[in-house]
Amino acid sequence: MLSNIGKVLESRDIQKASGGAVEWARRVRELRDEEGYQILSHKDRSDLKPGQYLLETDKRVPAFKRGISKETRAWVLERNGYTCQMCGMAAGDPDPFGGSRTVRLTMGHIIDKSKGGGDTPSNLRAICTNCNEGLQNTSLPKPDRIYLLAQIRRATIDDQSAVLEWLIKKFESKNVVKPRRG
Ligand SMILES: [Zn+2]
Repeated sequence: MLSNIGKVLESRDIQKASGGAVEWARRVRELRDEEGYQILSHKDRSDLKPGQYLLETDKRVPAFKRGISKETRAWVLERNGYTCQMCGMAAGDPDPFGGSRTVRLTMGHIIDKSKGGGDTPSNLRAICTNCNEGLQNTSLPKPDRIYLLAQIRRATIDDQSAVLEWLIKKFESKNVVKPRRG
């Protein structure tokens, strides 16, 4: 796989490359979950078909041990922008259930552990404690762009500024703000 960075590989190619090993699928999992290679599958990218794998970079994410390590937690929180992936509340927002408390984030399993889901970064996401405890029925589909923009347009100038500030902070820290042309 390392010699095919950026190329979509079919499972039969990987099988061949690993000497026809029957256990190639387990090997792929090991490379991903224990050695930290960011091997993407159709679960990560909609343009990949089942049985196709892609290694975009040879950069490895920190080695993740069994159980959720501090490193895994930090990495997942960073990836999810310190935001609950169910209701969208951010760490430190006022807790809608908690009076003076603020929202706290915890690790949620995408595939439940009881159904065989692991403690690996690909199966973890940031969830607030309210959603984790099932207090909120907020597993809503993500709002579409037109709806979202409409909501922002009818918000107060103060709220629009807060949105702008949040967006600037979010994108500045990741260096993805593109320079303005002209
Ligand atoms: Zn939540």
